[in-house]
Amino acid sequence: MRKKILVGNWKMNKTIAETKEFINQVDGELAKALENGIIVGIAPSFLSLKEAVSNAKNLIVAAQNCHFEKSGAFTGEVSIPMLEEIGVKYCIVGHSERRQYFNETNLTCNKKLHALFNANITPVYCVGETLEQYEKGETFEVVKTQVEEGLKDISKEDVAKIVIAYEPVWSIGTGKNADAAIAQNVCKLIRDVVEGLYDKETAAQVLIQYGGSVKPENIVEYLSKPDIDGALVGGASLKVDSYLKMVANLLK
Ligand code: PGA
Repeated sequence: MRKKILVGNWKMNKTIAETKEFINQVDGELAKALENGIIVGIAPSFLSLKEAVSNAKNLIVAAQNCHFEKSGAFTGEVSIPMLEEIGVKYCIVGHSERRQYFNETNLTCNKKLHALFNANITPVYCVGETLEQYEKGETFEVVKTQVEEGLKDISKEDVAKIVIAYEPVWSIGTGKNADAAIAQNVCKLIRDVVEGLYDKETAAQVLIQYGGSVKPENIVEYLSKPDIDGALVGGASLKVDSYLKMVANLLK
């Protein structure tokens, strides 16, 4: 039985003080989720990570990005040893906003995945098609390539630990959800691609999330699908009540 995983991607929101306040209100409410095999987490900004790690007992804390080099002349970047030093255990890689605004490619994502696995940090690797690709019917091809190129030369043992988030770009922050049946089809495709690259047993262990306008009202529908193990949530993860409602709905 795979676990379920809900991660709030806070993007460029919340100060350190706001992060601490959120954790104080949410962390103590998660015992039941944990008992039920649900991993619950947040991805705050780099500046809030240290505070988040030291305040969270139940929440897992993810970085939103990292650089693949250990150190060097990369102004404005944060390295994996820096994340390791403060106890970060998860890191989002290849979010569509990073791909769109910061020129991330499948190749740089692949380098980040290798570097994160070397440091024992679990990557949450994001894939998903743009609106234009969706309208042209290219979803499967685009996602397949993102998975294949992102996972290039990653060992079977490491891939078994990865989290992959399917986030159709046209549904992020737009309120336009992908139909749950379509999301399931793409998540199944992702599992099939992993199976083709590795084997059935490995593919069966990979946690696959859906992301894009997930909220308390629709999270259960997505997670009731056989290949959707979780959600990567932006907007609805920022408020304590909607965050806790999503957790509560998963427990029903
Ligand atoms: P959204 O963002 O839930 O606000 O659509 C999702 C994401 O970008 O991970």
